[in-house]
Amino acid sequence: MNPAFATQSLSGWGRYPVELCHVFRPEKRCEVAAALESRLQPSYIPRGLGRSYGDAALNENAGVIWPIRLNRFLSFDRATGELDCESGVSLAEIIQYFLPRGWFLPVTPGTKYVTVGGAIAADIHGKNHHRDGTFSNFVRDFRLLAPTGEVLTCSPTVHPEIFWATVGGMGLTGVVLSARLRLRRVDSSYVFVDYYRAPNLEEALATMEASDERYEYSVAWIDALAGGKIMGRSVLMRGNHAAAAELPEGAGDALAALTDPRWNLFLDLPSGTLNRLTVKAFNAAYYAVHRTALRRLVSFEKFFYPLDAINQWNRMYGKRGFTQYQIALPQASSHEGLRTILDRFARSGRASFLAVLKRFGDAGNGLLSFPLRGYTLALDIPAGRGFVPFLHELDRMTLDYGGRIYLAKDAVLRAEDFAAMYPRLVSFRAVQRKLDPRRLLSSSLARRLRIVD
Ligand SMILES: Cc1cc2nc3c(=O)[nH]c(=O)nc-3n(C[C@H](O)[C@H](O)[C@H](O)COP(=O)(O)OP(=O)(O)OC[C@H]3O[C@@H](n4cnc5c(N)ncnc54)[C@H](O)[C@@H]3O)c2cc1C
Repeated sequence: MNPAFATQSLSGWGRYPVELCHVFRPEKRCEVAAALESRLQPSYIPRGLGRSYGDAALNENAGVIWPIRLNRFLSFDRATGELDCESGVSLAEIIQYFLPRGWFLPVTPGTKYVTVGGAIAADIHGKNHHRDGTFSNFVRDFRLLAPTGEVLTCSPTVHPEIFWATVGGMGLTGVVLSARLRLRRVDSSYVFVDYYRAPNLEEALATMEASDERYEYSVAWIDALAGGKIMGRSVLMRGNHAAAAELPEGAGDALAALTDPRWNLFLDLPSGTLNRLTVKAFNAAYYAVHRTALRRLVSFEKFFYPLDAINQWNRMYGKRGFTQYQIALPQASSHEGLRTILDRFARSGRASFLAVLKRFGDAGNGLLSFPLRGYTLALDIPAGRGFVPFLHELDRMTLDYGGRIYLAKDAVLRAEDFAAMYPRLVSFRAVQRKLDPRRLLSSSLARRLRIVD
């Protein structure tokens, strides 16, 4: 039987752009292959929970394969923490089941609503990148349905070139069907967090460089609207997992499970709600409230996933949507690069409600993986008049400092800038061409950036 594709308006988390796609939701692994072979659509792209911000999981007027019902745990080894699961399993589902049993994710992004397939395809990073690297460091192997119809088991030693093209490869090498991941042991679902209020960028960077290695997790909230002497003022939040024995009496269940989102944003707020005035006021209050403090006991949900407390918080930006502009800058040029880009942003008249800074450790082997040793800065920027040319201007600055844009967040980058930012693109294309001779895989992101030739 032919797979039934339903036409649907889709977007990423930023709700920019919105495109008509033809969507198929397989129930079984064999149906994924049938969809690819069906010839019903000009091309196909897999999709997870749609938490990439732009057009990575969109395929305008073409096929989207949405395997989120392939979400079974297949096996678990209690001795090693190795979990074999289907690719539609979400990180929330892993936490829900395994945290109460003393296991946690080895790398987690700022939301738990992403699938294992999406985590591999974007080679995601977390607040521990400076120590542990990306998600792929904890993937023993995965089964990839290649566009040729073959199911390949890939690991750093078996089909390594396909493994390293698939991690960070944004779904363009095939559909990940299942993966074996190494979870990490934890003793409690709490983190001891040190807060440090840095009055400007120089002090924030110096403090992170002097002492980040003492912390498993490190991230900084940054006031992207502050200019002059207080440019880059930040609140550093750095922590280590708490041992059960360290918890004070009355802290509750040491291995508490997940809670559901507490609030729901039912309506789109008017597009201009997050403007310079409102964000400036919020930033001043946030900076004032977060004083320097040591060893605050914080639940893992509050520390890792503060935004997940509000269901559909992306509606705050209104119908026009937003993008998250996330760059990585190499260590050598990072201080000057951050100063220049933050200064340009502060003078732009735009507002960024959420701005985050963190250090990256060494780059991994993923051919299109994003991190490189240095810093990453992420700014939420509302879509609106002039925002595309403005982001192109920032892209040029990022390139001048040897940096790059994160594909999982991007919606506007140009193909020539992308090619200059990702020197291993040529190797990626060579692997991709062999895997997909019939050109079955494509996405709106892939066409915009000419990732696949
Ligand atoms: C609030 C928030 C915070 C975030 N914080 C971080 C962060 O700290 N660090 C970070 O790295 N990222 C972060 N992200 C981005 C997010 O982790 C990535 O975009 C991730 O890829 C989303 O996974 P998904 O399941 O939603 O996939 P989607 O967004 O649906 O798809 C993302 C990509 O994965 C591909 N893909 C999906 N499933 C498969 C599959 N089965 N096989 C092959 N390819 C597949 C798609 O084709 C697409 O290219 C954040 C996103 C949000 C909304």
